[in-house]
Amino acid sequence: MNPFTYQRVASTAAAIQAKAAHPESTRFIAGGTNLLDLMKESVLRPQTLIDITHLPLDGIEDTADGGLRIGALVSNADLAWHPRVQADYPLLSQALLAGASPQLRNMATTGGNLLQRTRCYYFYDIGTPCNKRAPGTGCGAIGGVNRIHAILGTSDQCIATHPSDMCVAMAALEARIHVEGPDGARRTIPMADFHRLPGDTPERDTNLEANELIVAVELPPPQFQAHTAYFKIRDRRSYAFALVSAAAALQLRDDGRIGAARVALGGVAHKPWRKPEAEAPLVGQLPAEADFGAVATSLLEGAKGQGHNDFKIEMARRTIVRALQKAAGLEEKA
Ligand SMILES: Cc1cc2nc3c(=O)[nH]c(=O)nc-3n(C[C@H](O)[C@H](O)[C@H](O)COP(=O)(O)OP(=O)(O)OC[C@H]3O[C@@H](n4cnc5c(N)ncnc54)[C@H](O)[C@@H]3O)c2cc1C
Ligand code: SF4
Repeated sequence: MNPFTYQRVASTAAAIQAKAAHPESTRFIAGGTNLLDLMKESVLRPQTLIDITHLPLDGIEDTADGGLRIGALVSNADLAWHPRVQADYPLLSQALLAGASPQLRNMATTGGNLLQRTRCYYFYDIGTPCNKRAPGTGCGAIGGVNRIHAILGTSDQCIATHPSDMCVAMAALEARIHVEGPDGARRTIPMADFHRLPGDTPERDTNLEANELIVAVELPPPQFQAHTAYFKIRDRRSYAFALVSAAAALQLRDDGRIGAARVALGGVAHKPWRKPEAEAPLVGQLPAEADFGAVATSLLEGAKGQGHNDFKIEMARRTIVRALQKAAGLEEKA
């Protein structure tokens, strides 16, 4: 690990000021569960760590419209077990509890989870080429070992995936990210626009600026309390990242027909993968496996394997159908 200085801040304004003074050479540290690993491997070499763990960003509050505002420092464990999340946003709880391990969930924060980096092996190995870690050096995974890599939204520069479970549920629930920058500037970024596709700037994972602090995540008023499912396919039953995951949420009307539908995928792209137009045809229909298959076909349009990960295309199709069937309360046949 490289030498660095440590700075503890007592207010969000002080945190942002410290970051804005040296945006590229400083890093906020929250739970540290990703950042410290990256520093130990010399993937990141910040000169200063700004400890934000003492900021008052650890609350979970009802919003005026009936939604929920989650402070950036709320731990993944506290969020997953919060009574309102369990009752009104079970999809989020299911996704969080599918991630990491109990010890990690106690440390990991909401803001840090949003910003966790890819698990691409080459990104962590500084002896290999990686356009995300060192722009312009090439991509070790293209033509290399790419079993865990993306099948959607890739570029010829990078085929990494975003590894979070929490973010997949937040994409399906249409969360919004509240951020603050220098001079009190505040903005809200819809979850769909928060993470980026790699394109020709794979070094940028998100649209957050280097001098901005995530202060909260807001969930809209609940719509999907009763019919949700998070399906995560992985190499081990726990403590493993998703090969493919699907978050499905349905609103079923009194006549049994679908009133609203959401599906987001994890493990397949550089961001949680969602396409509202793939969900729209479900509205007004009775839940049916054939229609769920059509959602999968639409959502996976353009999917392309890289060799070792070709299996993910069929795996994703089955995971989408299975998650929707589970959400609808249908027999799992897929
Ligand atoms: C062994 C292992 C297994 C795991 N398995 C899973 C899994 O199955 N599913 C899953 O989803 N995750 C998994 N994780 C990842 C884990 O969820 C993340 O490491 C964690 O969520 C990161 O949160 P943190 O608070 O520790 O972030 P940190 O490591 O402190 O920070 C991560 C990044 O976010 C930045 N940051 C943090 N907070 C803010 C803020 N408020 N504003 C701006 N920038 C901020 C930091 O500067 C840093 O760049 C695993 C991790 C490990 C080590
Ligand atoms: S897939 Fe992206 S993160 Fe992985 S080696 Fe290629 S450029 Fe780096």
